[in-house]
Amino acid sequence: MTAQFLPHPGTGELFTSPVVPGSGWPGDPATVDTPVAHSCADVAAEAASATNLTELDARISLCRACPRLVDWREHAAVVKRRSFEGEPYWGRPVPGFGDSLPKLLIMGLAPAANGGNRTGRMFTGDQAGDWLFRGLHRAGLAAKGAADHAGDGQKLYGVRMISAVRCAPPANRPSVEERDCCAGWLDAELGHLLPWVRTVVALGAFGWDATLRAVRRSGGLVPTPKPKFGHGATAVVHTADDKPLNVIGCYHPSQQNTFTGKLTEKMLDEVLAQAKELAGLGWGCGGSGRR
Ligand code: SF4
Repeated sequence: MTAQFLPHPGTGELFTSPVVPGSGWPGDPATVDTPVAHSCADVAAEAASATNLTELDARISLCRACPRLVDWREHAAVVKRRSFEGEPYWGRPVPGFGDSLPKLLIMGLAPAANGGNRTGRMFTGDQAGDWLFRGLHRAGLAAKGAADHAGDGQKLYGVRMISAVRCAPPANRPSVEERDCCAGWLDAELGHLLPWVRTVVALGAFGWDATLRAVRRSGGLVPTPKPKFGHGATAVVHTADDKPLNVIGCYHPSQQNTFTGKLTEKMLDEVLAQAKELAGLGWGCGGSGRR
């Protein structure tokens, strides 16, 4: 089948779905020379040998280690939701988005098939992402209250968004094996970030558990019994170099939670205000936003 080229919603440049590395997609960290992981052993090796965050982002964005998730993300990129059928889909793993020296991390589960898997940016392009970015903007942590597509000028200030799994999973449920395989990327990214990070906002129980597991894997200390997730729940864990790290639970801004009122804007604002203070970001906008 001949590849279909469609215009990027921001730049108008033509791209295939999935996007070819180095073809000019705004913020694409990869090039044709970026190595591709085809197994979990490759993930571990390539994650460990990436010398900086940019190189790590590039390698993540081409990973093909989980066959089921590769099929799903590329299927979603070709079949598409009707409202986006005129757009190209990123269709690749989604690297972290935001500041490269963050004080605050937002940890979620995975990109959505028609959200981050379409835009190529973490937690953007769907209603949950819109909610989150509006909240971050109200808190003075994002340049704009919307994040429609890569290259739209959105920036995060002192904040980086990451996820435990980098490919959109069917029904938003990665398998344990897929989660553990992707942990190789997560651990390497945290290795670059944790020297600066003071607070993590964990979206949902999956983000909470992924954060605590990653801290343990890195040699840090998590209290026992394991702190329980809840909206507004806080835990203080310690990194491997014995620095305290605040973890704050936040209900995921999914439609299921926001439509039913389980998560309100006020509840989100309260968590972000607490996180901002604990992260030492009370001075307002600044930092070194990327992409
Ligand atoms: Fe690679 Fe992670 Fe995607 Fe699996 S989920 S293919 S490890 S990026």
